[in-house]
Amino acid sequence: MKPAPFAYAKARSLEDAVAQLADHHGEAKLLAGGQSLIATLNMRLSSPSLLVDINGIGLDGISVKNGMVEIGALARHATLERSAEIARHAPLIALAMPHIAHPAIRNRGTIGGSLAYADPAAELPACLVALDGEIDITGPSGRRSVEAADFFKGLFETALGPHDVLSAVRVPAATSGTRVGFAELARRHGDYALVGLAAAAKTSGKGLSDVRLVYFGVGATPVRARKAETALAGGSVDDAVKALDLEPSDDLHASGAVKQHLAGVLLRRVAKQLAELRA
Ligand SMILES: Cc1cc2nc3c(=O)[nH]c(=O)nc-3n(C[C@H](O)[C@H](O)[C@H](O)COP(=O)(O)OP(=O)(O)OC[C@H]3O[C@@H](n4cnc5c(N)ncnc54)[C@H](O)[C@@H]3O)c2cc1C
Repeated sequence: MKPAPFAYAKARSLEDAVAQLADHHGEAKLLAGGQSLIATLNMRLSSPSLLVDINGIGLDGISVKNGMVEIGALARHATLERSAEIARHAPLIALAMPHIAHPAIRNRGTIGGSLAYADPAAELPACLVALDGEIDITGPSGRRSVEAADFFKGLFETALGPHDVLSAVRVPAATSGTRVGFAELARRHGDYALVGLAAAAKTSGKGLSDVRLVYFGVGATPVRARKAETALAGGSVDDAVKALDLEPSDDLHASGAVKQHLAGVLLRRVAKQLAELRA
């Protein structure tokens, strides 16, 4: 299918993008990498009257300051995948990157687009929640920051209003005590995950503390498995698997029971990564 007719405007700046969204009263959509948006237009799941192209307005840098890694919304997946700064200071994002789609899609797709789109099976939303990140939103009344855990509101639903632009994300820079793990199961490499797990923790003596286990593909938003986190911090992977407090529903790809089983398989893999990476 072809998309419904739409007008196109190239934003000159972040402020211009916000102004154009506001001028069109919820009828306009931002175009970032286009890797999800264009498909939804072609399938006529969405028919905005205007696309506001935010490519070329900057917002694509990576910097490390005050113990935080800041990534501009327009940083492309491929840039993050190849970035030495991301590998060093945000290793969970580096681990997740090769699982996102295929190289051609990663060349265009952006971190801001992925978070704004909020697919429940996407990798980056879970990584941001696992890292306890923050998301900057710029709208008609200026800029505000939202914790990643509060950003994802429901299925494809976020804290972004119709006139808002996701402008940057921040995650705490990894320290020598930071441990991360990532695993997912997909029918083919590059497909959206059936179930995935992004994890972060801190070393604490011979064990782990501050364990954050965030699943994707098991609910409408990234889901923290809090009882399993406590059990894993207590040192027992078996107890953590038993404590997995997820309630995945059936979907087109797998039953809830299969997803629950796969969540346990992933937890064992990720727990091993967290342990192996320990100095
Ligand atoms: C075949 C295929 C396989 C894929 N597999 C995966 C996968 O395994 N895992 C995965 O995570 N993703 C996958 N993707 C999606 C890919 O990661 C996209 O890049 C991402 O979802 C959207 O990013 P984008 O920059 O292309 O956003 P766009 O498609 O341009 O925009 C997506 C939505 O977000 C809005 N938006 C974009 N940027 C902003 C912003 N800065 N502020 C506010 N709103 C904004 C747009 O208006 C639109 O509604 C796949 C895509 C394809 C086509």
